[in-house]
Amino acid sequence: MKNIISCMLVITTMLSPLVVAEQVNLYSARKEALIKPLLDKFTQQTGISVNLVTGNADNLITRLKSEGKYSPADLLLTTDVGRLYRAKQQGLTQAISVSAAIATVPNNFRDEQGHWLGLSLRARPMMVSVDKVDAQLIANLEDLISAEWKGRVCIRSSSNIYNQSMVASLIVQLGESAAQEWVNGLVNNFARHPQGGDRDQIKGLAAGLCDVAIANTYYLAGMLSSKDEITQQQAKKVKVIWPNQAGRGTHINISGVSLAQYAPNKNAALKLIDFLLSKESQLWYATTNHEYPVLPDIAWSELLQSFGTFKAEQVALGKLGELNAAAVKMMDRAGWK
Ligand code: FE
Repeated sequence: MKNIISCMLVITTMLSPLVVAEQVNLYSARKEALIKPLLDKFTQQTGISVNLVTGNADNLITRLKSEGKYSPADLLLTTDVGRLYRAKQQGLTQAISVSAAIATVPNNFRDEQGHWLGLSLRARPMMVSVDKVDAQLIANLEDLISAEWKGRVCIRSSSNIYNQSMVASLIVQLGESAAQEWVNGLVNNFARHPQGGDRDQIKGLAAGLCDVAIANTYYLAGMLSSKDEITQQQAKKVKVIWPNQAGRGTHINISGVSLAQYAPNKNAALKLIDFLLSKESQLWYATTNHEYPVLPDIAWSELLQSFGTFKAEQVALGKLGELNAAAVKMMDRAGWK
């Protein structure tokens, strides 16, 4: 009897909210420095601790899958809608009901079924070498496939999801055959075999290896604010050109978040999502990542303002995940390594 009573006592103590501290387990493909200070602030404000697991996005998705219903993960934070879509397709996420904070995120940056939503935006414009290219002479992505740009274009490999999503977005907006024509033309104008990341394309411009590149702006912003003098000088030789401003707008993507299918701390996780969408968080997160806030009424950092404002594509981003396989095939057919 005594044993039963003490056993019940232990169980009651375990269930007591006063004893069990709230926590959130966050699987994040973002570097610790780009998120940790914000999480610390969340803990200060709410008393909810956040256990941060950082890693490569594809590895985190694989880990979630292999852990199955025993996964401790509550949230998956990663870049590019293509990856969030993949996690959803694999049944690793669950629908999030729309809170007041989530309702402030524009519809095209949220999954229709509520399985992911954007926390910040990234833009993928053209960039040119200031010394070699008159920025007035180039206005649209379509310009890059003309004979004038033969041997002058730098872009990273087709295995990168940023390019896959960009091509998927062209399929949505231009249709299969026009998108294929563009991809073929672009490959035909490559300055070199695709190599390195977006930063290396910017360095390629600075070194005169190419005259125009396609890269995400936060890489250029990161180089401009680098403590390394050489990196800063390389970035200063490069100018952003916002393509397709008279038409469909410039390609954008998100970094976003999903609620894990078996999230053991769902309520705390939802509170963290709401916190990340607060004005203060949005300002900090976008500025620190050199990305754009996902909420339309948040001010941009001075550095982002220096690139100028732009018209963005209006594609429902979930489409980019749906068309990922078609985009990869298209790039393969064109010989984009
Ligand atoms: Fe990146």
